Amino acid sequence: MVTGAKKDKLYEEAIKEQFSMDRKSVFENALDQFNKAAEILELSEDQKAILRQPQRITEVSLPVRMDDSSIRVFKGYRVQHSKARGPAKGGVRFHHDVSLDEVKALAFWMTFKCAVVGIPMGGGKGGVICDPRDLSEGEMERLSRRYFAELSDMFGPDSDVPAPDVNTNPNVMGWFVDTYSMRKGGWYPGVVTGKPLEIGGSLGRITATAQGVTYCVQNAVNELGIELEGATVAIQGFGNAGSNAAVLLDELGAKVVAISDVEGAFVSDEGIDVTAAVDHVLKHRSLKGFDSHANVTKLDDAMKLLEWDVDILVPAALENQITEENADRVQAKVIAEAANGPCTPEADQILADKGIFMIPDILANAGGVTVSYFEWVQNRMGYYWDLERVKEDLKRYMDAAFESVLV
Ligand code: NAD
Repeated sequence: MVTGAKKDKLYEEAIKEQFSMDRKSVFENALDQFNKAAEILELSEDQKAILRQPQRITEVSLPVRMDDSSIRVFKGYRVQHSKARGPAKGGVRFHHDVSLDEVKALAFWMTFKCAVVGIPMGGGKGGVICDPRDLSEGEMERLSRRYFAELSDMFGPDSDVPAPDVNTNPNVMGWFVDTYSMRKGGWYPGVVTGKPLEIGGSLGRITATAQGVTYCVQNAVNELGIELEGATVAIQGFGNAGSNAAVLLDELGAKVVAISDVEGAFVSDEGIDVTAAVDHVLKHRSLKGFDSHANVTKLDDAMKLLEWDVDILVPAALENQITEENADRVQAKVIAEAANGPCTPEADQILADKGIFMIPDILANAGGVTVSYFEWVQNRMGYYWDLERVKEDLKRYMDAAFESVLV
């Protein structure tokens, strides 16, 4: 029998492992990156002190009636990191791994992302601890509405404007805007972006993040003198950011040879049939079983996708995927961080030492927030742009941002 101090130690170790307490948190990683940048930019102590902490943090408990009539209480967060440049802007994530630490880091990065693309917005982020795979559509709707109602004093077109993130989509944004408008007794489309087109969404928003990633990749390969036509690509994560990046890069002639999602990683030397992969996910909700397609193999270890011998690697899933443990084995020439924080600061250093051309998240995935900003502008004008204008303006913003970040 295990008793006393030994029991305590085992318990402590189990907790440590479960919560990775011996590893740095995502927010600590974000602060490390900030400290390095602040040194280069010679920010004053006052500036650093203001930027190191979020402006406002709210935690809410969300009682939701489940389909079986029981009540389940979910935990949700909204963090406004900085509103110095305008209303807080940032998505809402529904995921079982959501934590306050993660939401703080994501809100922090949003402040700098908005500044990199030069839009008049600050940094915010939200999250709810849940696994949407366990929820029916009705439960998702009740949870989404409860979250927005509970936090409606924080949200507003002039104060905090959320958008989709992992596991939230235009439908969820529709529930958000409707909940807010019902409470305020009016119609406030500018309180949320990433809405369905019919209720004030912007053309080009769904593919905006991937489009921005693609513009950055085009600029990067031009810089390096690599031909995009025929260049090999690996993409981790096959949701909004990853799958659309696969489609756009494939359309430009790049050869997508590895893709993955939560169900595993799939590779093909001949090149993945991207249209078939997108159809597969539409039909089956994930890439599970995609290795039934000709010339496609499933990897035993999905993380090996990050080490695949490709020209371009697009991490488009979650944080902390490339760390000091695997960074040295990365073979890509260019990394485009479609996900937020996929590489730890320690990995960044190793990748830089290897001469890998890094397009950081606050630039690479800024296309999403840029078109969100266009959507917010259109909502406030009540005048809607055609797709051509959205794409042209996005390219102009992304190219200028790429140029300003390039060293
Ligand atoms: P999504 O929910 O549409 O897709 C996430 C994808 O990642 C899914 O295919 C999921 O199966 C996969 N995934 C989850 N865990 C994984 C794992 N361990 N290994 C491999 N794949 C895994 O989410 P999204 O909107 O595409 O967001 C992905 C990333 O891009 C996030 O970091 C998000 O913050 C970032 N991002 C998204 C947008 C946007 O507009 N959607 C904008 C900026 C940044």
